[in-house]
Amino acid sequence: MKVLVVSSEIVPFAKTGGLADVTGALPKALRRIGVEADCILPRYRCVDRDRFPLTGAGQSIRVPLGQREEGGGVEEADAGGGVHAFLVRNDRYFDREFLYGTREGDYVDNCERFTFFCRAVMEWIVSSGRRYDILHCNDWQTALIPAYMKTLYADREPFRTTGTLFTVHNLGYQGLFWNHDLPMTGLGWELFTPQGLEYYGQINLMKAGLVFADILSTVSDTYSREIQTPEYGYGLEGVLYERREDLYGIVNGIDDEEWHPAADRWIAANYSVDDLSGKAACRRDLLSAFGLPPGDEPILGLIGRLTAQKGFDLVERIGEWLAGQPLRMVILGAGERKYEEAMEALGRKYPERIAIRVAYDNALAHKIEAGADIYLMPSRYEPCGLNQIYSLKYGTVPVVRETGGLADTVVDADANPAEGTGFTFRRYEAEELMGAVSRALAAYADRTRWDGIVRRGMALDFSWEASARAYVDLYGKALRKRAPKG
Ligand code: ADP
Repeated sequence: MKVLVVSSEIVPFAKTGGLADVTGALPKALRRIGVEADCILPRYRCVDRDRFPLTGAGQSIRVPLGQREEGGGVEEADAGGGVHAFLVRNDRYFDREFLYGTREGDYVDNCERFTFFCRAVMEWIVSSGRRYDILHCNDWQTALIPAYMKTLYADREPFRTTGTLFTVHNLGYQGLFWNHDLPMTGLGWELFTPQGLEYYGQINLMKAGLVFADILSTVSDTYSREIQTPEYGYGLEGVLYERREDLYGIVNGIDDEEWHPAADRWIAANYSVDDLSGKAACRRDLLSAFGLPPGDEPILGLIGRLTAQKGFDLVERIGEWLAGQPLRMVILGAGERKYEEAMEALGRKYPERIAIRVAYDNALAHKIEAGADIYLMPSRYEPCGLNQIYSLKYGTVPVVRETGGLADTVVDADANPAEGTGFTFRRYEAEELMGAVSRALAAYADRTRWDGIVRRGMALDFSWEASARAYVDLYGKALRKRAPKG
């Protein structure tokens, strides 16, 4: 089976969030179980020739865009693990400082940029002579591809039996654009209906994936059910409910080479479930990295995009209470200015207890996972979440809200003492979060109990192999849908 993973960001080339981690790790994991997987993404400015030697002169392509044609190219790079990465080049669209927009907002031509990307993938497959059994598309930036497969390219070789899997990594970002952009996609107005791409007068690119892909998935079982409800469906719950028979949830694996306390190159000392002694050095190193005084009080860590999704308004609401507890807190994140300011204000008020770094800093993220004792993830919604999984691996006990992937990966240690790996709360309320943090602090004071919780989490297996096998099952389902009937 040959699979092409299509994504707008892929580690190690370009990353803003978990999507890149997943679409970077999955093709390698597929190769390890014998599936020929490649990946393709736009060639942004950050994918420069010095860091990523590109092979070959690149293949030039012509891409229809509305009434005109846009030129471009596809270059190739080694993604590691035997995976070929293809990079769609068009400097006008992708040679920019950021992937999707600046702090002031999204790039205004995002519809055009990602329409170009999707159509370029189709045209490149046609003209390069490459054959894939499965196109695995991810999030709205790639969602036009399943629609193209069933419309403009339905009768074109080599797509007649190609299956599509569309994976939703975050339904909060849907690719909503004004309907004047529809002709540019090449799709006809007959698709501008509520059953098609229309969404209250606009076009919704995510819907193209949800309506036209052979099989749908999202990144945890719980999230796959939540998104069929108005609370989590962001207006797409109806479409998702309609397609519930084809909708699956597969929890992300984690990249064991990058996130492994026994081999992590970013942390002060390595450690493992058999010998946890290195964690003490990691704690000291973390406090010093954040300029906090040394001490034995438990350290709470928090990393993430500073957005409402990640629960920063709840953290803000309990900030004063947190500062009064026997703990230290370190926060790493960048995002919405109002949350940055709120967190910075807390740090200024309690400089001995709370510290924040407004940045995107991978090395510091590793130091937090290793050096903290408790990891806080009170997300409003969380399709899968990676940081709570890293925390489990690093013996840093997660306190999470029971939603999406958080509910599927963390077991409450009070409700289930034999299997507990963290502390969970249900309702999105400040009191509930305070309750869960209090329970974690009480457990921390009981060293034997805490040690058991830490070790249970560290022993769990979140390697990619199981997830990759689950994806292969879905690829099989997609292919069966495309097999000629009769
Ligand atoms: P999301 O994809 O919604 O942002 P995930 O938990 O799935 O959330 O993945 C986030 C990824 O991005 C993790 O690998 C996390 O370590 C990383 N990350 C997020 N914010 C930062 C930051 N400020 N500095 C370093 N890494 C970050």
